[in-house]
Amino acid sequence: MAEGCAPGVSWRTAGPSRPEDVGGVLNALDPRAPYVVDTRDLGRRAGAMKDVHREVPATAGWGAGLARVPEGSDVDLDLRLESVVEGVLVSGTAGAQIDAECARCLEPVSWEERADIQELFVYPPQDARGRRVEDEGDDDAEDAPPVIEDDLIDLEATVRDAVVLRLPIAPVCREDCPGLCVHCGALLANDPGHRHEETDPRWAALGALLSEGQQDGKVHDRTVHEDKRQDDTVRSSAHDEDKDD
Ligand SMILES: [Zn+2]
Ligand SMILES: [Zn+2]
Repeated sequence: MAEGCAPGVSWRTAGPSRPEDVGGVLNALDPRAPYVVDTRDLGRRAGAMKDVHREVPATAGWGAGLARVPEGSDVDLDLRLESVVEGVLVSGTAGAQIDAECARCLEPVSWEERADIQELFVYPPQDARGRRVEDEGDDDAEDAPPVIEDDLIDLEATVRDAVVLRLPIAPVCREDCPGLCVHCGALLANDPGHRHEETDPRWAALGALLSEGQQDGKVHDRTVHEDKRQDDTVRSSAHDEDKDD
């Protein structure tokens, strides 16, 4: 078993990285939570490394548009933690199952996505005596790097953001998906010859001529129709002249 995997621990049933907040106080990270990794064995020696291979459950809300990672599905972490001067650099990949609807035909489609992970977790700021200095209310600094807390890092937001970033805006079931019929919504992939002839005015005009010919019992020949039309034109203009007189 690879280093970083705790035998006998069921990550799937483990709770959130941080126990429930009580009275608005931010609780310490739970070292047994699936996304929490202990960095203590790196010993703050720059260059020290540790590999982490884990299957963790996707948490709620990993989605964008038509694609999402099902909550509770396995996320495969293949990571390397490296001690650097400022903290711990986490790099590697996260593999996840993606469920989506095709943007053209709306049929369900699933695939595996592997996202690159790269995140620097920094040591908390300390004073000259090595005691932790509390942040000066800088909680809304979105770009601030995540902080190592009591030698623990919480990978959940890092992994979630990396995977969600990989979700396509317009997923397709296949590159040449023909989508749905714009007139009746039929699934064109199941019905390649599908069309609506009466919706094209040019075909509608020809259809009218054909049915007219059938009623007259004439042969469906283009020249016959054209001759007939010319006759009609001559006759009608003659009629108009009569009227004018
Ligand atoms: Zn499709
Ligand atoms: Zn149709």
